[in-house]
Amino acid sequence: MPTDRQPEMFRQFIGGELCAAQNGRWIDSIDPATGRVWARIPDGNAADIDAAVGHAAAALGSWRSRPAAERAVALRSWAAVLREYQTDLWRIDATDNGRPRREAEPAVAGAIQQIEYHAGLAETICGSTVDISSSATTYSLREPYGVVGLIIPWNAPLAMFLAKVSAALAAGNTVVVKPPERASASILVAAQLFTKTGFPAGVVNIVTGEGRTAGEALVRHPGVRKVSFTGSTATGRRITEASSANIKSLNLELGGKSPSIVFADADLESAADGVAAGIFTASAGQACIAGSRILIEEPIFDEFVDKLKARATAMVLGSPLDPATDMGPVAFEGQFDKVKEYLDSAAAEGARLIFGGRSGGDLFPPESEHAGGYFIEPTLFVTEDNGLRVCREEIFGPVAVAMPFGSERHAIELANDSEYGLAAGVWTQNLPLAHRMIRRLEAGTIWVNTYRRLHWALPFGGQKASGIGTSNGPTTLNEWLEHKSVWIEQ
Ligand code: NAD
Repeated sequence: MPTDRQPEMFRQFIGGELCAAQNGRWIDSIDPATGRVWARIPDGNAADIDAAVGHAAAALGSWRSRPAAERAVALRSWAAVLREYQTDLWRIDATDNGRPRREAEPAVAGAIQQIEYHAGLAETICGSTVDISSSATTYSLREPYGVVGLIIPWNAPLAMFLAKVSAALAAGNTVVVKPPERASASILVAAQLFTKTGFPAGVVNIVTGEGRTAGEALVRHPGVRKVSFTGSTATGRRITEASSANIKSLNLELGGKSPSIVFADADLESAADGVAAGIFTASAGQACIAGSRILIEEPIFDEFVDKLKARATAMVLGSPLDPATDMGPVAFEGQFDKVKEYLDSAAAEGARLIFGGRSGGDLFPPESEHAGGYFIEPTLFVTEDNGLRVCREEIFGPVAVAMPFGSERHAIELANDSEYGLAAGVWTQNLPLAHRMIRRLEAGTIWVNTYRRLHWALPFGGQKASGIGTSNGPTTLNEWLEHKSVWIEQ
């Protein structure tokens, strides 16, 4: 592993101060394009979480009692500062998790716009009066939960942090954030930029560290009223159990195994572009909404697979910072090993490899700086058995499985035969067919003749094991507000 440059040291942000972990330990952050340790972050744990919750609780009174319009002003000024630094910020994310520039850059720019959207929503928070009794005045209020916990995954750390934190703050909560242990740096930098705005100390606190220590301590902390978690379904289950002792409100954005469904009448060139982009260039498949199951109508199966192969083999793998790169590495060594294990298990289970399957040193010459990186080439398996692990489990890498279907009904059965229900793509020129699919597919987002489009003004959430609650959309602040009903007898 190259050691010529000293790693950058980052610090937690607690009560407005930068600090190391109380235990003095650090976690290495590795650039997955080279395998080099480029940064170190504090390995915080329950003691740091406790301190952060204390600061968030102390800051709550003044933050929640600020008029919503003032909270909105503070959020807008933070967005303006972040915009000045957005190039630094997306580059940090790309260095930490390998997300290529053409994804990381617009994701950060969009998340800054989302802060402004949430600032606008703050000014729309309102309850309602209800005409129930001639002798009483009755109305409802919307109130923030209090101190809330945000737990962020590594595939789009900064964008997810900005989206969650701005909604929680707009609603009047104060927050403790646990970034992903392998990609915390951009969140720490963005948090430091709070000091340049009108946010009081303690309104936002960042504790870095491992999920099983810092993350679980946040979920279990009695002073935390709500937890919003984005990550795997397995961790979502653990968080649900851990939060049950205190009956915490949960918002869970979890995993997916989303189908892209291609009918024979589709515009096949456009469908092949969209389907390939939906899995391979979607952060090398490390997107919750990656279209990892490709269902293709039988008459066009071979033709469509050929089109996917042409697109996959033309993709440029390389540095995430290079604008010419289509696909970067997977984010860290453990993920690299996990994806390679799926490559082996899919073949062992009898799925047929159509293209791809090579990784690591097979893809770059030994003298390349990427020879030690965690690259996996776009890979496609074919099977008719939806029971295989490659069809059922979220791989979170540039690996797709294609399956043929014989009828509309068969396509729906295959698509819905999954524990997940995050998203689905439908490719057809038959509008009535598209509408029938939209109604019958079990997924929180459906795309027709496009894929992987998201916007802060449209609700996003998972069905089934893909999550509970939503983010985005005009009612998104409701996730961060409780009801209080009032009766006043005259
Ligand atoms: P992960 O579940 O391993 O970790 C996510 C976060 O949870 C990290 O910060 C981690 O430290 C923390 N964590 C781990 N164990 C914990 C515990 N016991 N208690 C509290 N916190 C804990 O997920 P990941 O590997 O970082 O991210 C990939 C997953 O995220 C994929 O499954 C992907 O589909 C999902 N994801 C979902 C969405 C969505 O909106 N539905 C978006 C992005 C990613």
